[in-house]
Amino acid sequence: MQLDFPTLGVVFVLNTAILTALLFFAWALNRQVKALAWWGLAFFLVLMGMGLMVVARGTLTLATLLIANSVLIAAYSVLYGGCQTFNARPISLPSLLVGMVLWWVAFPFISDSSTTRLVLTSAICAGYALMSAWELWWHARHRLASQVAAIILLIGLVGFNTLRGLLGFSLAQSFWIAGPVPPWSGAMAIGIATFMPTVAFVFLSMAKEQLEHQYKRAALTDPLTKIPNRRAFLEDATVLITRQRCAPTSCLLFDLDNFKQINDTYGHEVGDHVLEIFGSILSDHLSEGAYGRLGGEEFGAIVPLSGDDAGRLAEQIRHSFESVAKIVRGQRVDVTVSVGCATSATSTVRDLLRHADTALYRAKAQGRNAVVSAPSNVNIG
Ligand code: GH3
Ligand code: MG
Ligand code: MG
Repeated sequence: MQLDFPTLGVVFVLNTAILTALLFFAWALNRQVKALAWWGLAFFLVLMGMGLMVVARGTLTLATLLIANSVLIAAYSVLYGGCQTFNARPISLPSLLVGMVLWWVAFPFISDSSTTRLVLTSAICAGYALMSAWELWWHARHRLASQVAAIILLIGLVGFNTLRGLLGFSLAQSFWIAGPVPPWSGAMAIGIATFMPTVAFVFLSMAKEQLEHQYKRAALTDPLTKIPNRRAFLEDATVLITRQRCAPTSCLLFDLDNFKQINDTYGHEVGDHVLEIFGSILSDHLSEGAYGRLGGEEFGAIVPLSGDDAGRLAEQIRHSFESVAKIVRGQRVDVTVSVGCATSATSTVRDLLRHADTALYRAKAQGRNAVVSAPSNVNIG
């Protein structure tokens, strides 16, 4: 195959321009994914660096080399910054600048050796690609499929730069590797030209997957208490009951006592804070099982426990809430909770909730701040 490198260079630059625009466009549509802007900037810098090389082809001066390589190094460092931003981690400025500083400090000493220049730029770029892959692997907030694809591509970029450095090194020093240089450089040019759209696509997929993850979480989380909402609770509870097969499973239904009065006396803000307190007590006590805010001041839990154990757990939660919610925001509110329990080895979530609700009604009738279990004939289910 006959490759025309100047044509390939122009195609590469045009391609990169389109991908830069696409990344910025995606960022404009989803401003909360700031990493897209970082990656858009990285592509723009590649465009500038490679564009400069293509335009200055044949008349490359030392100044052009210094600037073009600086811009390419900056592209890699911004790519790394984008990966940190994607993981919602603070940007480490020294690590973003170190490559550039290294290049500028070394340049006066290596400017007349094309081999050393190539080795140094390749090493810096490989370093940033490796740091980016590490960032996406080690600090990932969620295990996204597209993030794994990005890691593989970044490791490919490490390999590409290492090979480029080695080839540069070999041009002067190793006759045994100098042989394959011409075919490799053609393959490299084609490889990097097809690599850019692949990377852009994977970055866009990462942003999309992360947004989907966030939306899904928001749809399943109660915004006030940050615990699962009714929908998430019912889904989790159904999974738990299916997994339990014929083992006893208990349902706890919680309803804060005289809560309307708390709101009326101390204000809605204090009422909201009490709900937050109860939510965090629930999550502290329910490491296993499904739980959530059913609505208003009602909460539910399904736990893989026998009636006695579930009753004890409910008593602990009731007691813990009573002590923590005595004084809220400096005011003595003395808020309490009533709990209804039901246990069965065969019932559905709906049946368990219905029986627990009857028990809760009895707890309220008995004077509140109490745990009442459904009768054992219901419990046997
Ligand atoms: P009981 O002991 O019989 O359960 O009495 P109660 O006052 O708790 O029950 P009721 O159903 O009469 O009142 C529930 C109150 O919960 C009414 C409503 O204003 C309050 N509430 C529901 N959702 C919220 C919320 O998100 N924030 C606040 N602050 N209050 C809420
Ligand atoms: Mg209620
Ligand atoms: Mg109530």
